[in-house]
Amino acid sequence: MLITINGVKRMYKNYVFFGLSCSNITIRFLLVLSLGVLSFTSAATQIDGDKMQQVVNEAYAKFKDVKEGANANYIPILDTVPSDLFGVVIVTKEGKVYSAGDVGYRFSIQSVSKPFTAALIMAQQGPEAVREKIGVEPTGMVFNSKVAVELYEARSVNPMVNAGAIAAVSLVKADNEKQRWELINNNIQGFAGEKLPVLEEVYKSEYETAWGNRGIANNLYNYGRLYADPEEALRVYTRQCSIGVNTLNLGVMGATLANGGVNPLTEKRMLPAAHVPELLAIMATAGFYDESGEWMFNAGLPSKTGVGGGVVSVVPGKFAIAAFSPRLNEAGNSVRAMRAIRHISGELGVGLYGPNPEL
Ligand code: GLN
Repeated sequence: MLITINGVKRMYKNYVFFGLSCSNITIRFLLVLSLGVLSFTSAATQIDGDKMQQVVNEAYAKFKDVKEGANANYIPILDTVPSDLFGVVIVTKEGKVYSAGDVGYRFSIQSVSKPFTAALIMAQQGPEAVREKIGVEPTGMVFNSKVAVELYEARSVNPMVNAGAIAAVSLVKADNEKQRWELINNNIQGFAGEKLPVLEEVYKSEYETAWGNRGIANNLYNYGRLYADPEEALRVYTRQCSIGVNTLNLGVMGATLANGGVNPLTEKRMLPAAHVPELLAIMATAGFYDESGEWMFNAGLPSKTGVGGGVVSVVPGKFAIAAFSPRLNEAGNSVRAMRAIRHISGELGVGLYGPNPEL
C-alpha cells in the first residue's frame, strides 16, 4: 500500500506536469510513462484476498492470549459474557469476508449502534440537523459524562457519546415510541443486511440500572436539547444498545460505509454517499471517546467502539475491519479488538493519513 499511495501521488503529479509540458516528443514520452505508472498503480490499489486473510489470522493469533482489561460490569449482565471470546473480520466493499475466531458469537451492539442512528438522522433530515441539534465536537471526556453536558453549549455534544446518542434517538422523526423503535431497528438491520434480535436480558439489565443515562436524558430535556419524552428516548436508546450482533454483522455495517452508504450484500442504499464523509469525520474525532486522539494517532481509521466489546473501523472506499472481545480498558474500549484492528491497519498501511506500521 505504501507503493500504492506513493503511486497515486506520483500519478497525479504526472498529470499536472503533463498538462504543462512542452514538446510533442516529451508529451509522448510522458504519456507512456504515465500509463505505465497508471497500470502499475491500479494493480497495486487492490490488496489481494490472501493478504487480507493472512493479516486477519495474524492479528487473531498475536492477541488471542492477551488478558488485559475487564468486562464491563456497570451493566451487570455484561460481566457474565465469556471474556475469552475473540473474533476478527475484514469485509470488503464488494462483500468479501476474511475472518478468524469467534465471529459468529452474538453480543450486544452497545455504542457501535450510535453512528448508524446518526446516519438515520442524516438520511432523514440532512447532516445539518446533527450539527445543529446534537453537535459534532469531541468532548474529550468519558462516554457517559455528565460534566460535558454542563460544559458545552451544544449539551449533547456529539452523537458518539451517550448524551448525543440519546438526543439522536429523540431526534428521529416518529409519531410514537413504536415507530421510533422500528425506524431505528430497521435502519440498523439494513446496515447489517439481516434481521437482528434484541437481547432482552441485556435490555432488562441495562434499563433497570440506567440511572446515569436517565439523568442525562432529563438534563438534556431541561436544556431543550432532547426532542422527545426523556423516558421514551431512554427506553428506545437502551433497546438500540441491546441489539444482538456478531462480529461479521459489524463488518458488514462498516463495509456499507466503506461502500459509500450501500450495503454490499443487499445492495440497498442506507445513507446518501454525500453524507458518508460527515459521519466518518464524527467517528474519527469521537468514536473512541476520550481515547479518539490516541486511536487516530495509532490506527488512523474512523471507528466506533461499544462496551459489549465490539469495534468497527472503516477504510473509506475499500473495506471495514471489525473485532470483538469483551475485556475493556479504562476508557471502555475492547483491548484485543483495538490491538487487532490497529495491527491490521498498520500491516495493510491503510491509515487515513498514510501508511502506519506498528513500531
Ligand atoms: N448502553 C451503553 C451505555 O449507555 C453504551 C455505552 C458504550 O457502549 N460505551 O452506557
